[in-house]
Amino acid sequence: MSVEQRERLRGRLIELGFDVVRFAPANAAIDRGLRDWLAAGNHADMDWLARTADKRLDPQLVLPGAAAVIVLGVNYWPGREVAGTSFARYALHSDYHDTIQPALKAAGQVLEELCAISATDYRYYVDAGPVLERGWAAAAGVGFRGKNGNIISPRHGNWLLLAAILVRVAFTPDEPLCESEPGRTGLHCGKCRRCLDACPTGAFSAPGTVDARRCISYHTIENRGFVPRALRAAFEARVFGCDECLAVCPWNGFAQVGRSGLLARRHELAQLSLVELLQLTPEGFREVFRGTAVKRTKLVGLLRNACIAAGNVWCAGAASDLKERDAAVAELLRLARHESPVVRGHAVWAVRRVLGDEAGAAALVEARAAEVEPAVLAEFEGAA
Ligand code: SF4
Repeated sequence: MSVEQRERLRGRLIELGFDVVRFAPANAAIDRGLRDWLAAGNHADMDWLARTADKRLDPQLVLPGAAAVIVLGVNYWPGREVAGTSFARYALHSDYHDTIQPALKAAGQVLEELCAISATDYRYYVDAGPVLERGWAAAAGVGFRGKNGNIISPRHGNWLLLAAILVRVAFTPDEPLCESEPGRTGLHCGKCRRCLDACPTGAFSAPGTVDARRCISYHTIENRGFVPRALRAAFEARVFGCDECLAVCPWNGFAQVGRSGLLARRHELAQLSLVELLQLTPEGFREVFRGTAVKRTKLVGLLRNACIAAGNVWCAGAASDLKERDAAVAELLRLARHESPVVRGHAVWAVRRVLGDEAGAAALVEARAAEVEPAVLAEFEGAA
């Protein structure tokens, strides 16, 4: 397609709400480090990443005849007033899977109209498909791959949600930020290493390499079981995700607040107190988090995370608000009898962390939470 046709398409896609629209040839060289990352076990138990590796590395396996990848970005920077909450910033919006998907469908219709193709000539994905969005984003010049592993846009900093359309139409490609090595990690980081140093759990095994087994985002969202004890204190008050390695990046200085065309703001979630989270019922969880990405962790996961956060916020000697702390302990003691062993185990851990070993054990006995099942007992002993 000519440059004029490409620009017309770009304009139409921006009208749909995308903040970035860039084009890469489907045979562009993209970051091939995925296999090494998987071989080192960095994906923890996210086996679907290993199962789809071939497709992620070769768009022809996803859409035979694919000639281009259109990379789309949605700016979700909420502004500085939303700093430092228990939720990663992207979670303080409507679920991007739900809201970007219809826009991608509309983008497909625009492609059909302008390129005279049918729906079988393209595939689109937002996060959940076998596509290496970040690799294509670097190839298309959306940004460069920072030492934090994220795509950093000169215009939007670290705050782009990425989607991709594979299409059987060749476009004049956009230039990457660096022609000779578009996928190089840290291309424009210089000597900076703020993200590597800021990670609360030391999850970077090398610049650009995140070990999910140590990553707070992985544990609070994807991990369905026990969180390793050694990591819990570093979670501090986080209950869903972590974007510390994104937030400290100096490239964010250029970011503008997102226009929210495709993402409705749910900033009120940041106001939920830990006690309110500990009190969540199945109905309450559904109601509060309907239409947000937080539902991915399910109620059990969120209660587990809230137990860890409560244990950290009110750990022995750190209490500033005794009334709030006592309310949290009452909820933790109730959760120490929860039907889920995962919730019970973390509630027990938190009670002991807040009250201290001796007083915590006594409170658990009094609350009849000390008659523990093997799974919880194992957790007590640090075996989980
Ligand atoms: Fe690169 Fe520094 Fe940003 Fe990390 S914080 S991605 S090292 S510029």
